[in-house]
Amino acid sequence: MSKSVGIDLGTTNSAIAIKKIQVEIIPNKENETITPSCVALRQKKKMLGLSEKTEFFVGKHALEWLKQDPANTVTAVKRLMGRSFDNPEVQKLISDPRQVITIRRQTRGTENSLVLVLNKKEYTPEAISSEILKKLCTDAHAYLKDTAEFAVITVPAYFNDKQKHATRTAAALAGIKVQRLLPEPTAAAISFGVDQVNDADVNTVLVFDFGGGTFDLSVLTISGGQFIEQGKGGNMWLGGEDIDRKLMDHLLEITARENDIENIQTLIDQQTDRVKNQFLGELKGQVEQAKIRLSQDQEAYIEILGLLKDEDGDLLDVDVTLTRDRFETLVQPVVETAMNLTRRLLTDIHIPADLIDRVLLVGGSSHIPCIIAAVQQMFGAKKVLVHDRPMLAIAEGAAILSHRLSETYECAGCGKSVTQTDTSCSHCGFDLEKHTIDQGVLDIVHSTAHDYYVVLENDEKYLFIEKNTPLPCEQTEVFKLVQEDQQLVHMRFFNRVNEIEESIGDLWLGIDDETLNKCLDNLSDSDESAVLSIEITLKIDENNLVSVDAALREFPDVHLSRTLSRGRADETLFRKVETMVNEANEKQLSSYIMDDMTTRIVSTIQDIHQVIDPDSGQVVEPAHQLAEMKIEKTRRFSENDITCYSTIYFAQDALDQFAMLISNEDQARFQKKIDHLKQMNLTGSYEENLSAYEDLCRCIDDYPDIVLLMQIKKARELCNQHDPDQAGTFENALSKLMGAIIKQDMELTKEVLDEIMPKVNKTLNEFDRETGTIQKGITR
Ligand code: ADP
Ligand code: MG
Repeated sequence: MSKSVGIDLGTTNSAIAIKKIQVEIIPNKENETITPSCVALRQKKKMLGLSEKTEFFVGKHALEWLKQDPANTVTAVKRLMGRSFDNPEVQKLISDPRQVITIRRQTRGTENSLVLVLNKKEYTPEAISSEILKKLCTDAHAYLKDTAEFAVITVPAYFNDKQKHATRTAAALAGIKVQRLLPEPTAAAISFGVDQVNDADVNTVLVFDFGGGTFDLSVLTISGGQFIEQGKGGNMWLGGEDIDRKLMDHLLEITARENDIENIQTLIDQQTDRVKNQFLGELKGQVEQAKIRLSQDQEAYIEILGLLKDEDGDLLDVDVTLTRDRFETLVQPVVETAMNLTRRLLTDIHIPADLIDRVLLVGGSSHIPCIIAAVQQMFGAKKVLVHDRPMLAIAEGAAILSHRLSETYECAGCGKSVTQTDTSCSHCGFDLEKHTIDQGVLDIVHSTAHDYYVVLENDEKYLFIEKNTPLPCEQTEVFKLVQEDQQLVHMRFFNRVNEIEESIGDLWLGIDDETLNKCLDNLSDSDESAVLSIEITLKIDENNLVSVDAALREFPDVHLSRTLSRGRADETLFRKVETMVNEANEKQLSSYIMDDMTTRIVSTIQDIHQVIDPDSGQVVEPAHQLAEMKIEKTRRFSENDITCYSTIYFAQDALDQFAMLISNEDQARFQKKIDHLKQMNLTGSYEENLSAYEDLCRCIDDYPDIVLLMQIKKARELCNQHDPDQAGTFENALSKLMGAIIKQDMELTKEVLDEIMPKVNKTLNEFDRETGTIQKGITR
């Protein structure tokens, strides 16, 4: 029976692991747990020199070969995977003077595909990478006495489709069947075990992966066995090698100083190629060893004897003792860069350090005490977990998933074969389901691990997708809005894990006035009830990512498509909107304020939907600031009882109805103020918005007659609704008054006003005191 394994195909090092009862790292032929991701092509000369044969070496032996033949030895091929020749990262690599491998456009490939040239032949990055995979699997075969045929292979969180495709190609070339490509940070989090990263208090984790050539940061929220990425950062070109380089420079400097050499680099360049490569290779190896030792000890020695010769032909030895203190001073800039990148990521995704529940340290450079200390200082020592085997964590996480994905696997209780669908072991009775839950890899099964609900009005729950539905799956349902002129729709999605309900994300839809009117017109054509309907599709993909499509049935142009997530910057903004609406509803504010708030919120929702860039997942700063400002404005206006939108409505109506009472010049001025306030409602700060509002109010106050006319008009409208017999009185008064004002008959004006205004006030007091509720729910 062939085996399923987890593979960390790293930039510097690779590792392969298998989960039986425990997770085990599979050692390679050299009996090492990690295999350097180094591939060398060596020529084997045949006896008579007639034909040449070449052979690939991978791992430790390739790394040794690097010293002798760097032009035919590839390191860090992962950086080239899925890249085009023009890619800036590739060009950066090509222009690096330390890069001796030839990288060029592929002769017979597409315009932009690149190849590495080894021993005059072209090799794709996929082919080189497949050599690493072949070595891992061949050695695993020898160790397991069985083929390692199925694998979960990890990839960086930032890998795009092309890079992932290249990884799949490499696997195919190596004869491996890929069960899943798993993001490295997720693999790292899985390897820590669920009790470390998913209890009631732990939800948001930062994976800090400091490796050899790259520094990767990822923020994940973990909930009910789902791992959702919230943001990523780091630097593709920062890692242990930068530290090695700093140490090498330091040692050369000391050696030069001790031996009175002005320019040691020139001296090195003057050596024969063989000596130079051997010396630099030796120096790099020793420096790395010293660095590793200094993670434990206070001192390390570097000694390279009998290689370098000075201009007089005398031997020049390197012989230096490096203390931990000195080392820490030297690497301080690297540590600072790493911590700055960490701070920047948290700022970018708007998650402050105290909202991070755990920081998980993996990657070889996470061994370094001063790096651990810096992370502890930023987050507090209690939150920081350093993996027991930082360089193996990712392979271990991959192995745990691989085990879950294989159709049959070995019972953790007795080791005998059980199948995916068994809930308990038929051999020993072991509770397989519970064990899976304890492992925290629920999400990574082939079917949904929970029930998925949407919340209806009055807190009813509607079951959307049932537990154990095979993945991927999707389901579409139609819901009704709660109220006829409802403009906000708040859809809340939940799942139920072990009887506990957990939010998996919310979706907000705003319907502006214009759209609402169009929809209602459409509705009244047909003969249905007057509330709008919304069609919601819930989709869950094989990685358990939940996404939702929602569209108004009557007006499908109003639609949304989003991946549900928690902890992102846009969600914080929606939470603020929700709180504001709930508070307003509780306080039973006037319907004017409620209408004003609703209009503002509908427009804000559109801004919030722009806060996360759909391609990069990053926060779009201007959109974030605008949305935040608009929320704050909405809150302050409602608290101060200021209703800009109804004032605009009032002013526009007055201008349209009573234009004959206003000079042309003033009409233009009036209109300008209205338009300015409209604009400030959308883009202005609170102060700007307020001042535009006050400006318009002053304009209105210049026309006390018109205000009175508007009040009579309002009274007439209210009577039409509530007390139609009375409406005529106001209608008559309105036309009489208009006539009197136009004729400038002051006496008549006063007479009409004296008679009608008490009635107007009474009507307004009686009917115009409605309080409102902002509806946002859905029903079946
Ligand atoms: P990658 O993910 O890039 O393949 P790894 O996670 O395997 O890298 O980390 C490799 C790096 O870790 C190398 O630079 C190596 O020197 C460094 N490293 C390994 N062990 C230690 C240690 N004990 N102390 C300091 N650095 C270490
Ligand atoms: Mg790594």
